[in-house]
Amino acid sequence: KDILLEVNNLSVDYFASNGAVHAVRDVSFVLRRGEILGLAGESGCGKSTLAYAVSRLLRPPAYVTGGEVLYYPRGREEGASPLVQSKLPKSGRANKNNGSEAIDVLQLSPSELRAFRWSEISIVFQSAMNALNPVMTVGDQITDVLKAHRPDMGPSQRKKRASELLNLVGIAADRLNSYPHELSGGMRQRAVIAIALALNPELIIMDEPTTALDVVVQREILQLISDLCREFSTALIFITHDLSLLLELSDQIAIMYAGKMIEKASSQDIYEHPRHPYSYGLLNAFPSLHGPIRKMVGIPGSPPDLRAIPSGCPFRERCPLAFEPCTTVVPSLQSATAEKPQQLVSCHLYDSRLSSRGIPSTTDL
Ligand code: SF4
Ligand code: MG
Repeated sequence: KDILLEVNNLSVDYFASNGAVHAVRDVSFVLRRGEILGLAGESGCGKSTLAYAVSRLLRPPAYVTGGEVLYYPRGREEGASPLVQSKLPKSGRANKNNGSEAIDVLQLSPSELRAFRWSEISIVFQSAMNALNPVMTVGDQITDVLKAHRPDMGPSQRKKRASELLNLVGIAADRLNSYPHELSGGMRQRAVIAIALALNPELIIMDEPTTALDVVVQREILQLISDLCREFSTALIFITHDLSLLLELSDQIAIMYAGKMIEKASSQDIYEHPRHPYSYGLLNAFPSLHGPIRKMVGIPGSPPDLRAIPSGCPFRERCPLAFEPCTTVVPSLQSATAEKPQQLVSCHLYDSRLSSRGIPSTTDL
């Protein structure tokens, strides 16, 4: 599949009076068209900040301090959004990926960015259910987005599209005239998803949209959004601290720790054979070199202060397998093994120059 989004060496700092907080540190990844990427990690690991940076929603005191975010729009012949065709800069484009033209998202002007949002990327944030306007009907909130971005649509077409969208997310069309307070939490969440889908974006980013909902409703919502994304070949980045939610529904999973991406692999590989000691911890197990893997709940200790990150591996103070190079050398994200080049891990255990160790599989549990 084609690459849709390519993030290269992205770093974000929050500038505070007592020092810069290095929230995202040198993160690189690619997302393919229609791919579902689950982004996991403890709170404060930089996953939300990464999403804000990619969608150009960072606000001071947060600033991108390095890297690039490249977006590959569909070509004209593939039905590219006319807004992207007309409003995006010719200057910022470069032939980087299979001859397709990349847009440098970090360079878009405010008007270019308005065209880009919703029609290319839409974002559903934490506590999204409260993002609805309380004094507007759900129908009007959907048609507002259409009004702003689809000047070709008349009022009746907009209304028709709004009912269609509500149906897609499992809400009866007669709810068009309901106000948010007349809907349950789960239904409000669905309405927000309907708005995110309104312009058929290529990518939806959802940042823990479901944490306020009970677990059953959370699963339903995640199932719904991933079904819809598969149906429309929309790519999805789904952010949550709950790795178990992601395993069944994502194609790929990326795990962040202390601002770094420390493992990225298919869901199946993460589930069957995580590589990074921290990934084990998130799967409620802990590896040991000698003897069986221990089941455990939670990972002892806490992440490092992102104002003063220690040398070497950011996980070393909590890692039961830390060895000498971990205190001095920062591990980089690389293929874990020759057999599985797609499974990327940032840990010296997999660097044959430093270690001949390897950690056992959770299938041994
Ligand atoms: Fe543990 Fe060292 Fe791997 Fe870091 S690099 S996760 S400290 S073994
Ligand atoms: Mg967050």
